[in-house]
Amino acid sequence: MTFDFDLFVIGGGSGGVRAARIAAAEHGAKVALAEEFRMGGTCVIRGCVPKKLMVFASNFAQSVEDGREYGWDIRQNGFDWSKFRPRLDTELDRLEAAYRRTLHNANVTVFDSRAVLDDAHTVRLADGSVKTAKHILIATGGHPFVFDFPGSELAITSNDIFLLDELPKSILIVGGGYIACEFACILNGLGVQVTQYYRGDQILRGFDDEVRGHISDLISKQGVDLRLNADVAEMQRNEHGVSVTATDGGIHQFGAAMFATGRIPNTLGLGLEDIGVKIGKRGEIQVDEWSQTSVPSIFAVGDVTDRINLTPVAIREGHAFADTVFGGNPTRADHDQVPGAVFTQPEYGYVGMSEEEAQKEHRIEVYATAFRPMRGAFIGRDEKVLFKLIVDADTDRVLGVHIVADGAGELIQLAAIAVKMGATKKDFDRTVAVHPTIAEELVTMRTPVRTA
Ligand code: NDP
Repeated sequence: MTFDFDLFVIGGGSGGVRAARIAAAEHGAKVALAEEFRMGGTCVIRGCVPKKLMVFASNFAQSVEDGREYGWDIRQNGFDWSKFRPRLDTELDRLEAAYRRTLHNANVTVFDSRAVLDDAHTVRLADGSVKTAKHILIATGGHPFVFDFPGSELAITSNDIFLLDELPKSILIVGGGYIACEFACILNGLGVQVTQYYRGDQILRGFDDEVRGHISDLISKQGVDLRLNADVAEMQRNEHGVSVTATDGGIHQFGAAMFATGRIPNTLGLGLEDIGVKIGKRGEIQVDEWSQTSVPSIFAVGDVTDRINLTPVAIREGHAFADTVFGGNPTRADHDQVPGAVFTQPEYGYVGMSEEEAQKEHRIEVYATAFRPMRGAFIGRDEKVLFKLIVDADTDRVLGVHIVADGAGELIQLAAIAVKMGATKKDFDRTVAVHPTIAEELVTMRTPVRTA
């Protein structure tokens, strides 16, 4: 049987574009890709990239204040969203164009259209035309989830925040995960009065407990009104924005309410179940370690599979798929010890296990220190950084590294190399400190604060 293409990719985000490019440019496959919205996907258009640019914008509030304390004569007149927003739009346009160029240069045929599956080798585009392919890759990502309650249609999500014409004076952020904590800090820094509701006892569930407490304190001290065990029961629109009834019965007024209550895979309406592709409980496409679905010609990578929902992981999965299927080089994406960062202010960088995870499987030693870094201490700031190493007491291997500090996202990338190589605590100890830095603490902690 002959097909129109060797590979048809649905979704032009990080995972799909990488797979398409490698299959076409490096392995000579005839490839098509369909994207219904903007090329670049969540990361580029409404996620990591615009978020990080907002983190940069937001950080200046603190830098300017610190600069004044250090002796600079700086006047601050507040943040001008109307200046930042067009620049952000221009940058996203530039990146989207770069993604398109990449695909064009790799000879990938692009369809600016939604595509759904007709059968194991056929996709149908929005104009009704059909294309056949030997292999189909689903890389359709995910979208924000807002739970149902009276007034839930008034909620905005991280998709909307970058598109606001103006920033609200006050905002309620609901959720305690990555997006909620990051935007609480970003908007607080930009001068928005931020209240954050989290339904449980402590934000950042699933991360190291000591780190969760540390970040929660920092967020509160910075001026975010963080309410734990709090949730929204009802919302109504009024002339000032939204009136929110909390689950404790309190009624509060906010300019807007942003829900960061998780993301769900984009699998609805793709025709997957009709052709036998197995879908899990959270709506995710079920795949094996080769990213192959229950239909052998169909593969899936990235957030739509709900494995580790991070851009670099989706890229690895897309690349491994292309090498495996078109490059004759069977490759599994490695999901072990994936480092990451939560871009709170300061940032949290992590690799490996939390203390709680590690002690379930190992006898551990915990090395941890929290201290006021030189830069802030000089001007009387009492914000502390946190460095934490979890070490296997039997093998001396470093099982986890956790850093809460300015630049922790950058620092953890380097620490992650050592951890991935199997570094022991002795390896850390025999590395000479770089002085004076905050990161020198990574190699100078000598006595465990506890064992378990
Ligand atoms: P998360 O899963 O991280 O957090 C969702 C939050 O919403 C949790 O605090 C959860 O509470 C809460 N929640 C869920 N349902 C409800 C509900 N019905 N009522 C009240 N609260 C609720 O999702 P995010 O949306 O923050 O981020 C999605 C994913 O995107 C992340 O997991 C991550 O993989 C990725 N991401 C990565 C970033 C990075 O690398 N820096 C940045 C942003 C996103 P509970 O904990 O109690 O379940």
